[in-house]
Amino acid sequence: MITGTILRISGPVIIARGMKGSKMYDVVKVGNEALRGEIIRLEGEEAVIQVYEDTTGLMVGEPVVNTEQPLSVELGPGLLSSIYDGVQRPLPVLMQMSGDFIARGIYAPGLNREKKWEFVPAVKAGDTVVAGDIIGTVREFHFEHRILVPHGAAGAVTDIAAGSFTVEETVCTLDGKTRLTMMRTWPVRIPRPHRKKLDPILPLITGQRVFDCIFPVTKGGTAMIPGGFGTGKTVSEQTLAKWSDTQIVVYIGCGERGNEMTDVLAEFPELIDPRTGLPLIERTILIANTSNMPVAAREASIYTGITIAEYFRDMGYDVALMADSTSRWGEALREVSGRLEEMPGEEGYPAYLATRLSAFYERAGRVECIGSGDRTGSVTVVGAVSPPGGDFSEPITQNTLRVVGTFWALDTNLAYRRHFPSVDWIKSYSLYLDSIGDWYVEHVARDWRELREKAMYLLQKEVELQEIVQLVGPDALPESEKAILDVTRMIREDFLQQSAYSDTDSFCPVEKQYLMLKVIMEYYENVNVAMGKGVSLRQIQNLPLKAGIGRMKDLQDVEAIRKMMDNNRQQIAGLEVEK
Ligand code: ADP
Ligand code: MG
Repeated sequence: MITGTILRISGPVIIARGMKGSKMYDVVKVGNEALRGEIIRLEGEEAVIQVYEDTTGLMVGEPVVNTEQPLSVELGPGLLSSIYDGVQRPLPVLMQMSGDFIARGIYAPGLNREKKWEFVPAVKAGDTVVAGDIIGTVREFHFEHRILVPHGAAGAVTDIAAGSFTVEETVCTLDGKTRLTMMRTWPVRIPRPHRKKLDPILPLITGQRVFDCIFPVTKGGTAMIPGGFGTGKTVSEQTLAKWSDTQIVVYIGCGERGNEMTDVLAEFPELIDPRTGLPLIERTILIANTSNMPVAAREASIYTGITIAEYFRDMGYDVALMADSTSRWGEALREVSGRLEEMPGEEGYPAYLATRLSAFYERAGRVECIGSGDRTGSVTVVGAVSPPGGDFSEPITQNTLRVVGTFWALDTNLAYRRHFPSVDWIKSYSLYLDSIGDWYVEHVARDWRELREKAMYLLQKEVELQEIVQLVGPDALPESEKAILDVTRMIREDFLQQSAYSDTDSFCPVEKQYLMLKVIMEYYENVNVAMGKGVSLRQIQNLPLKAGIGRMKDLQDVEAIRKMMDNNRQQIAGLEVEK
């Protein structure tokens, strides 16, 4: 056993001597209270350790014991609906042990050791299995939790159990010697292996028009949501956690204010999944590491989260991971780096910030899982970024921008005007439009992309026209350009705006999204045809149909929207040229 002593303490970072034989990322127990920490640098017999708990009161000379295990998470039945801290300690259990203010040095395992799970075997004695194969399943709520042969194991099944077991009891034996339980552990800083990455051809359906229809992200894709204070990052992340069409959601509340996380914790257990009618918490794992919790655990939280996400991906499921906010994670990195007296890079962040960020987003993807057969799974990552003062030129925003596929730029002015989601349609982009084109043609409509491009073109045109209007007033514009302003207002207000709190509109099915956009773009076409015949814009604007377009959001019946389209066309076509 490697046991050293504390030599120096600097906030969350301590230096211990007498640590010969230690490895990078070994987990250690620091001081008389056995606070958990992780070795982040080794220099001869000295180890630099980041501590996951408050280090106040720790004294030089106290012992440091190396567990000789890397920082790992426990994976198995019991993960779903759990609420963990950044190093997978179950918060409700810790609170039971020590009250609302979690005492130091207390520990509870990530997975409940007493609970029994009904294991249903999927293989029989004599079968040969390799790593990644499903040996059995466990029902966790309504979810089929698949138990896989762990990495590095393979062989002939000599014994397979059926019945009720804890996660530590043997359920399967390979070659008469390798005993498998339902629990796995995995070092969080190492990506779990997959066979190969697949193209991002399936959209992640979120029920949010500006995301799905305008700036989509894919299953296995990556997106970032940068925005200043109050622009809607947290609401967006929560909306995605609620409505995304994945089987599993990992939600990481990282360094944000405690009350925001309390909202999530209070709200989630009440929410019902619109697709399945089941409580959403049953498909969710929450990781909470708020601003008042130790900074090093915040650094670890995103790795804990993504490892859990990969675990469910490996079973063949689609997983979405939300991190709010990666800026607070970056700040944790900066603080620890500062304590290490490393050479600072841009704005005091360590030089390896860019590498760490890209390595994290690189763990997203739609993959072919290891094991026999063709199982695919995905991890989609959506990271919120909170740039100080809403200034996107800062390092976290810039370095994230280089690695993600979708950029949802939230805008302070839009939020101020209560245009939500405050996604800036000029600055934002998605690199996945081409790759998901076929899916849209097959599942939604042939002309989705065309409609989208037309709408985006008009919105860009609107920016130019508004500049002119500011200089010379609206009357100076020709009728055709007034018609553009007329339709872009509809695109913004009747399509892009979508309240997360509306009973009828917080989730909008893709088919309805498409039809809504179609109604608006057809309106514009009809206007142009009518104006070509000499009908004035004022005549069209006097028609009652605009109010109907404004009410589309609340219509649950897509047929009604289709009918509206025909009706609008007839009304506009029926206008006579005024003498
Ligand atoms: P941030 O996390 O960026 O600081 P929040 O997500 O907390 O901001 O959002 C601030 C406020 O903006 C919310 O309390 C809510 O009133 C409003 N808001 C944000 N997004 C939406 C939305 N999609 N629909 C309705 N209101 C929203
Ligand atoms: Mg927030």
